[in-house]
Amino acid sequence: LIGTSNTENRLAIRDEDYSASTEAPPVRAAIVALVRNSDLFGLRQSMRQIEDRFNSRFNYPYIFVNDEPFTEEFKQGVSDLTDSHVEFGTLDHDSWKVPEWIDQERYEKVKLTATYPHAEKDSYRKMCRFQSGFLHRHPLLKDLEYYWRIEPDVEYFCDIDYDPFLFMKQNGLKYGWTIAMPEFMDTIATLWNTTEQFIGEHPEYLAKHSLREWITGNGGGYNGCHFWSNFEIVDLSFYRSAEYQAYFDYLDRAGGFFYERWGDAPVHSIAAALFLNATQVHYFDDFGYFHPQVSTCPGGSKQRGRCVCDSDLSIVQNGFCSVRYRNIKHQILHPDSPTAAH
Ligand code: GDP
Ligand code: MN
Repeated sequence: LIGTSNTENRLAIRDEDYSASTEAPPVRAAIVALVRNSDLFGLRQSMRQIEDRFNSRFNYPYIFVNDEPFTEEFKQGVSDLTDSHVEFGTLDHDSWKVPEWIDQERYEKVKLTATYPHAEKDSYRKMCRFQSGFLHRHPLLKDLEYYWRIEPDVEYFCDIDYDPFLFMKQNGLKYGWTIAMPEFMDTIATLWNTTEQFIGEHPEYLAKHSLREWITGNGGGYNGCHFWSNFEIVDLSFYRSAEYQAYFDYLDRAGGFFYERWGDAPVHSIAAALFLNATQVHYFDDFGYFHPQVSTCPGGSKQRGRCVCDSDLSIVQNGFCSVRYRNIKHQILHPDSPTAAH
């Protein structure tokens, strides 16, 4: 499949005219990451690919946020890779702490006994809490309509020859994703119960034609499906909305970011699946993407001739959560037709 080109598909997307222009970016958007100084090498490798595959033609700015001041070496090492504007910020202490309502004794016990990945780490939990509730409120992101989240050590396998921000804006999309998979349920043991309590208090927040069924199973409980938020392109009005803010505050008070290890991925995804309509969520299945240890690679015509990945080796598109998403979305968009084929 590598190297095959499909002119028809290429034309289809060109027709929409989301291609690069010489003018300033048409959307107030940025490529954003929370990173450490020690992530310099991994981040440079991510940026190199994003520049080559997309941003050297579109020139969106980058914004990097850290819980410590960035070193000169970091700033130089990152700026050297792009002609775009790069901003560096530190975060506010209140957004990076164990809140005072957390029972320290109970929390310490969890760190000693839990067995899931990163169970013993304070910093990982602070990171997940920050990316769930605070990154989008950082002052450097204040004027942005959209962000595209990146991380160190990710790869982009295909050219991205159109502007996904503009594509989302012109199609009224609020959440874009590339990889969906089930969560380690031990890290979110009470997340769904807490969510149900929240919905019980705020039924008015539920979207009418949401993807709720995508994340729930036969018994109505959470099936663990979530979008992998190390990649996400988001209309920030979603995270800034009253319902998202109230949801985050409710979760934060419940303490599960610390008593368990709730990730920003399930939190973002549950919110997207409950508060957005299915038509506002977009699967970027034309993006080839890797974050350790999972990759996705467009199949067939979606490769459009410029990918360096083998879709036959990428199983995530045919995994439970991706297939379920496609089927549920199909049902919602075409309620009268039979279930989509697998
Ligand atoms: P994983 O993707 O779940 O394995 O977690 P990562 O280690 O990749 O962390 C997710 C993101 O948060 C990455 O962009 C990291 O650079 C960033 N990150 C994680 N821990 C910290 C931290 O303690 N401080 C800062 N500034 N960034 C962090
Ligand atoms: Mn990561």
